[in-house]
Amino acid sequence: RAASPDTDASGPLVVEDVNITHPGRVVDSPSGLTKGDLARYHERVSELMLPYAVDRPLALVRCPDGDASPCFFQKQKPRGTGKSVGHKRVGAHEILYARGARGILELVQFNAIEFHGWGARAAKPHRPDWIVMDLDPDAGLSFAKVVDAALEMREALASIGLESFVKVTGGKGLHVVAPIVPRAGWDEVKAFAHGIATAFAERSPERYVATMSKARRKGKIFIDYLRNGEGATAVLPYSPRARPGAPVALPVKWRDLKHVDPAEFTVREATRWLRKRRVDPWADFFELQQELPEMPQDR
Ligand code: ATP
Ligand code: MN
Ligand code: MN
Repeated sequence: RAASPDTDASGPLVVEDVNITHPGRVVDSPSGLTKGDLARYHERVSELMLPYAVDRPLALVRCPDGDASPCFFQKQKPRGTGKSVGHKRVGAHEILYARGARGILELVQFNAIEFHGWGARAAKPHRPDWIVMDLDPDAGLSFAKVVDAALEMREALASIGLESFVKVTGGKGLHVVAPIVPRAGWDEVKAFAHGIATAFAERSPERYVATMSKARRKGKIFIDYLRNGEGATAVLPYSPRARPGAPVALPVKWRDLKHVDPAEFTVREATRWLRKRRVDPWADFFELQQELPEMPQDR
């Protein structure tokens, strides 16, 4: 029986030469989304997602039983995956990475739902190629406040020569991401991100915090610069999230940000509009050749 994209949820399904077993297994009960739907989403999105996701150290959220049992976070190559899933030792880390679309699909076959990544390539793991400023609002803070923070972050980075891009995370916050040429080391990049976060907290202490402490976060946005250390990860552009409704971490254009309702970005919705629209809102992300700027003053 041939796999037919939109009608057959239980028969065999082959995507990128990967045999997807149990395609009818529900991974998100609220929407009824299945493992097969996820595989088809990846088939459609791969052209957009692969530049950010392949050949990069990954961390996965795997949910072997859908949302019926707890998921787990995994940074090592799943046992049983083939050659399209690479692995190697990087210092103290045993990393895993996907070789091409097939690697991603094989991880989907192994029940990976979320794809998180280092800010560096597997081939150059000590030279970060992007900076992520992860904006984490305290519970109860409106999304509009996070949008304001992201716009302010964009300005601050631009003023020191860094163009940046924004994505909804599929959760409550936003990620502002700036590509950099892979030259500086982790210490330098982390110190830079820490410096930016601290400057925000010092300038507007009523709105921002730069320390992890939950107690000091009341009503504020934590500027989580800690995504920028060696071995730290952030959810990758276009990754589905293992959260109710199966949202996706989706790049958006800066000019659309004010009109965005993050709740509307789900795997279901994205699969639908990816049929027509296949333009990456981060189109020139890898074309920018930006150096890590000097910090105006350290810390
Ligand atoms: P939100 O917008 O809701 O904040 P987010 O993806 O930014 O969504 P965070 O909680 O801010 O979520 O980020 C947590 C990050 O920590 C993840 O991006 C992930 O890469 C990393 N991480 C490290 N360990 C784990 C773990 N055990 N489970 C989940 N994430 C983990
Ligand atoms: Mn976050
Ligand atoms: Mn965070």
